[in-house]
Amino acid sequence: MDVFENIEKRIKKVSKFMELSEEEKDYLLKPKFIHQSKLKINNKEFLAWRIIHNNSLGPGKGGIRFHENVSKDEIMSLSFWMSLKNSLVGLPYGGAKGGIKVNTQNFSKKELEELSREYIKAFHKFLGKNKDIPAPDVNTNSQIMSWMLDEFEKIKGHHEPAMITGKPLDMGGCFIREEATAAGGKIILEQFLNKINKKPEEIKIAVQGFGNVGMNIAKLLHINNYNVVAVSDVRGGIFFREGLDIKKVINHSNKTGSVINFENSKNISNDELLSLDIDVLIPAAIENQITEKNVKDIKAKYILELANGPITFNAEETLLKNGVIVIPDILANSGGVIASYCEWSNNRSGQIYFKEEMEKVLRNKIINAFHRVYEFYQEKKNENSEFDMRTAAYIIAIKRILNVTKIRGGFS
Ligand code: NAD
Repeated sequence: MDVFENIEKRIKKVSKFMELSEEEKDYLLKPKFIHQSKLKINNKEFLAWRIIHNNSLGPGKGGIRFHENVSKDEIMSLSFWMSLKNSLVGLPYGGAKGGIKVNTQNFSKKELEELSREYIKAFHKFLGKNKDIPAPDVNTNSQIMSWMLDEFEKIKGHHEPAMITGKPLDMGGCFIREEATAAGGKIILEQFLNKINKKPEEIKIAVQGFGNVGMNIAKLLHINNYNVVAVSDVRGGIFFREGLDIKKVINHSNKTGSVINFENSKNISNDELLSLDIDVLIPAAIENQITEKNVKDIKAKYILELANGPITFNAEETLLKNGVIVIPDILANSGGVIASYCEWSNNRSGQIYFKEEMEKVLRNKIINAFHRVYEFYQEKKNENSEFDMRTAAYIIAIKRILNVTKIRGGFS
């Protein structure tokens, strides 16, 4: 199923609770700008996109993904979620996303650099600190952001560090960016567990994906006394009922390139990880991981979505019927873009905020968003059991976007 089809179904569900007009639905479902190009390196061509879903709240903001399954449909979906996420947490941004359909696994460093620079050559006209501000996503990192910034500044002939976030510290990056998505996810989980009167020691967790987000959330939870019993990457997973020593797993993964074959643990498949008998499941890999096919096997009581769109619409409806509480992506993984906001605002103002100040911004913004969503969800779910936490988050986010669009003079 196309990822965007899930979004259409979700907008349909949300409109039952907030009475969206056809014009408003259309406006929310149609991206404002779709830019597509073919990037050429070593006589090979790669399709690439930069899509701005909406820019009524401010310049576009969202990561760039390098992955062999990247498609226009996927980037459209990711840009839609960025619009909602930025709106929900009160940032002055619209939503955007970019990507290249490529498998860079066997690329040399030089080829990776060339590809990153080609991306900017193709899309620089549409980017800038007041237009659209990219950041890292799956398979992209601070080195790639540095090449992209360098290429952009060469073309424009001036410095503009605020045109991209997720840079290394020495290039104007942010102290907390690397861990921010996971740090935000941990704060949300803590707030949620407080609400349901549970303590970290009582909670068994499995994390799917062991990249920037998955590895950092596993590490933070392990340090804070949660019991992380399983983790996985694209090659498979590992399970140890008494709890994995995540620091050792990180060393093992850095050495061998995967979490699998870790000492004193059992190798499991990604499907097995999703169906473990645990309290909290944290998808932190890619979208469409929990589908109609495997939803019947899910035993977790709570799902913290750190990946974007890991659950299909139909699968989520089944989870809700089974009493599973899903903490939605646009809330749970918003820590990354909040840290990006700190970086962007530092770069623009020339001020240098310190780590503690940035952590405070992240904490305040994400806790505030959590409480607004959770309280709205509590209030409405008593009236209608179909009302879930995602619907609450979507309604808050959509209201702000539509309100600003109307203040600006309506739809165009
Ligand atoms: P990453 O490239 O650093 O890591 C991705 C991880 O997922 C890797 O361990 C990879 O092996 C694993 N993976 C890939 N395909 C898989 C599969 N089919 N099954 C199991 N594991 C698989 O990416 P990331 O930056 O950690 O992003 C992960 C997710 O979090 C994405 O959905 C991304 O959009 C979302 N996200 C990331 C950020 C951020 O700050 N990086 C912010 C918000 C949301």
